[in-house]
Amino acid sequence: MKVDVTVIGGGPGGYVAAIRCAQLGMSVALVEQYERLGGTCTNVGCIPSKALLDSSERFHEAAKSYGNHGILLDNLRVDWAAMRARKDKVVQLTALGIDKLMEKNKITRLQGVGRFLAPKRVAVDGPAGTTELESRHVIVATGSKPLDLPFCRIDKERIISSTEALNLPEIPKRLLIIGAGVIGLELGSVFARLGTRVEVVEALERCIPGMDSELGKELERSLKKLGFVFHLGARVGKVERQGDEVLVEAVSAKGKELALKADYCLVAIGRKPNTQGLNLEAAGLATDARGFLPVDGQLQTKVPGIYAIGDVIGGAMLAHKAEEEGVFVAEILAGQKPALNHHLIPGVVYTWPEVAAVGFSENDLQAQGRAFKKGVFPFMALGRARAAGEKEGFVKILADAQTDEILGVQMIGPRAADLIAEAVTALEYKASAEDVARICHAHPTYAEAIKEAALAATGDRALHL
Ligand code: FAD
Ligand code: NAD
Repeated sequence: MKVDVTVIGGGPGGYVAAIRCAQLGMSVALVEQYERLGGTCTNVGCIPSKALLDSSERFHEAAKSYGNHGILLDNLRVDWAAMRARKDKVVQLTALGIDKLMEKNKITRLQGVGRFLAPKRVAVDGPAGTTELESRHVIVATGSKPLDLPFCRIDKERIISSTEALNLPEIPKRLLIIGAGVIGLELGSVFARLGTRVEVVEALERCIPGMDSELGKELERSLKKLGFVFHLGARVGKVERQGDEVLVEAVSAKGKELALKADYCLVAIGRKPNTQGLNLEAAGLATDARGFLPVDGQLQTKVPGIYAIGDVIGGAMLAHKAEEEGVFVAEILAGQKPALNHHLIPGVVYTWPEVAAVGFSENDLQAQGRAFKKGVFPFMALGRARAAGEKEGFVKILADAQTDEILGVQMIGPRAADLIAEAVTALEYKASAEDVARICHAHPTYAEAIKEAALAATGDRALHL
């Protein structure tokens, strides 16, 4: 079969690239090894985790804070099978939506493992045999998979990755998590809200180490209130299944030997690029030392006409980053000159309170030795937050000391995942803190915290502090 573009991988990077190529008039074949499109994000990532986060948060709210609103419930309990079934339905509907988008955009779908035969020739080994594709361009969007500890195999029963954690047969009594990153804290939250004792072992001295350290500290405080037990700065030496239990041995930050036991151990220490089966050599390609596919500023590999996007090229492993890269490459193939600023891709952690950030963190600016101003506004001081009983967290705006241009926005609090969009817009348009401080924000809303933080960053002018 001959097409303009072959896309290998049907996750958010690949299927969005396919849609944009089709919108721009190219004929497209989308190759995905599984029957369902959507990749990690739809099937075992963003969507199922957010469905469980939403359900568990509702239960937790009903159990812990409805009484404060004068709502009294008796005999509250969780039907775990029903909660999981709802999550599966959400995933199924999302995948069906992607199928419809493929039909609408007349994208040829091929199920099977894509492997290079030559730079512009790809074989697809599927359930119905092998199909060969010839195209002017190839976009590799094969994503990532969970990282193992070097000394411990994920057995998928008791020693598990996020994929199994999203589908556990029971609510564990005790869950041990290795890694206080995004997956560990999001999935840990799901189970802690449902009554599981959650214990986290993290190699570094703080939670979500990739983000601003003040966000990590505030999140640690909130999650401890939820019942999380943290061992930060601890080195894991052994993970061993013992029947229906798992033993984790570690050395704490203070040198104390820890022997921790739980029903399940979730290994959440990052993800690795997925290039298995691609037969990259036939295309004249090779991965770098960490397994990522190297690309240039146009996201083109060293072979002209072969591009790569999403988790497989590294950087932030985020669905919206993969999508933006898919659109970017499609527009380049169409002869356009798109722009993509990786520095302004927001990061979000869907715990409660939520955490979100864009641009530079305070730690980044300190490391650069850059002079900056800082405005912080706590949600506690907002009428909307008090009305909702959401008193945790803050918005922090960092602006250049001379020009007042906003360099970074960090926030932890209610609906931070949605609030960060205003900050991204401000940074994209190179707004100053003064610009944001002068924009009218509806009252009472959580978004007022952004205006107040901008006022605080421009001469201590916050009105409600
Ligand atoms: P993937 O989504 O991994 O898709 C790659 C696809 O390629 C897969 O379907 C795979 O089957 C297919 N494939 C691989 N090799 C071949 C081959 N040779 N032939 C054919 N097909 C192949 N990100 C967010 O932005 N927000 C979130 O809330 C979020 N939550 C997450 C929660 C969890 C538990 C996890 C694990 C991840 C989460 N992520 C989240 C990360 C997000 O899922 C990934 O960054 C995103 O899916 C990457 O998209 P991608 O298209 O690059 O790759
Ligand atoms: P991560 O990089 O966010 O966190 C991994 C954590 O494990 C880090 O804190 C790291 O210091 C720690 N760690 C590493 N090795 C360790 C060891 N031997 N012992 C103890 N701790 C160790 O990775 P993740 O949480 O596995 O998530 C994987 C990817 O999925 C991330 O890149 C993330 O962007 C993406 N994701 C995003 C979202 C979201 O956007 N909300 C949600 C889930 C996953």
